[in-house]
Amino acid sequence: MKFNTKTIHGGQEHDPAYGSVMPPIYQTSTYAQTTPGGHKGYEYSRTHNPTRNALENSLASIENGTHGLAFGSGLAAIDAVIKLLQPGDEVISTNDLYGGTYRLFTKIFEGFGIKFHFVGMENADKIERYITDKTKLIWVETPTNPMMNIIDVASIASIAKKHQILLAVDNTFATPYLQRPLDLGADIVMHSATKYLGGHSDVVMGALIVKDEKIAERLYFIQNASGAVCGPQDSFLVLRGIKTLHVRMQRHCENGEAIAKYLKTHPKVDKVYWPGFEDHPNHHIAKEQMDDFGGMISFTTKEDSLAGAVQVVEKLKVFTLAESLGGVESLAGHPASMTHASIPKEEREKTGVKDSLIRLSVGIEDMDDLIADLEQALSN
Ligand SMILES: *Cc1c(COP(=O)(O)O)cnc(C)c1O
Repeated sequence: MKFNTKTIHGGQEHDPAYGSVMPPIYQTSTYAQTTPGGHKGYEYSRTHNPTRNALENSLASIENGTHGLAFGSGLAAIDAVIKLLQPGDEVISTNDLYGGTYRLFTKIFEGFGIKFHFVGMENADKIERYITDKTKLIWVETPTNPMMNIIDVASIASIAKKHQILLAVDNTFATPYLQRPLDLGADIVMHSATKYLGGHSDVVMGALIVKDEKIAERLYFIQNASGAVCGPQDSFLVLRGIKTLHVRMQRHCENGEAIAKYLKTHPKVDKVYWPGFEDHPNHHIAKEQMDDFGGMISFTTKEDSLAGAVQVVEKLKVFTLAESLGGVESLAGHPASMTHASIPKEEREKTGVKDSLIRLSVGIEDMDDLIADLEQALSN
């Protein structure tokens, strides 16, 4: 089955009760048993729920995995991955990272004795020097947030394999429409399904997808034992979102390309970060591991000031000034004061997140309206 069919049919069957084409929202916490232990595979909805299972099968299908797991948020999914580790273990992570992931690693899990190394991975070989016999996990985000760096997943996977270290990839920005980390050698794919998978800014959810039975078993244990699951209504919404993922992503990519090119020639814009440009430092890797370049763009203005950037985002009318990304509507964000405010300024600026940086999540509206909106916001 090809990707554009998998988004609609992958892992899905019509409901056995009445043949409903979409899985019903099984809004129940528990299931009747005929005799103790006599049930139809469902006992309690933290452990299993048919609507959540339908979504989990879809997730496994679109990422070319064998098992999918859905969680109450992206961070809950990451939390479950780190719980595979023990005190004393070490993690090597991308340094240009979603702010909430950085906060979870440093403010929660460092306190439990896990050590994190934040490393620029644009050159994959660089991670070797951080590997010790305590290294158990490599955490990669690509494209990175918000600097749109590209990390070579296949190269990192071969290093991870050589040292028997797990490799997890946060695939939130690219989605499986653009890149499939399990095919590139990763062990775990993570999503904030809040973003492109859900796609309509109406639900918060996380997901993990794996292709190894043992890792799946351990993660299912953690999912049930820690209990950060999502509800059936939210599962239904994300399953519905996934059915149009390929058509939405196609338009996100078209609009993204047009806007990146528009910004690049704008006299008031300084730098534009988008992996589709040939002068992007890892454009050749993006071209190899991604099928297109997506709708996430960051840029700085020539007037290099906080006030200048704030003025631009406040003037936007079609773009909404808001956290988050990946919805049908275009959003603009100011990382330094919004998504990345939890990262100390010094750390932030080391990775390029300047006060003047603006991040766009280009939606699927009419391209002309989006460009006209940027034009008026960038004019005085
Ligand atoms: C939003 C996001 C997360 C966190 O997901 P939530 O659903 O907000 O918990 C993790 N990684 C990336 C890249 C994100 O954009």
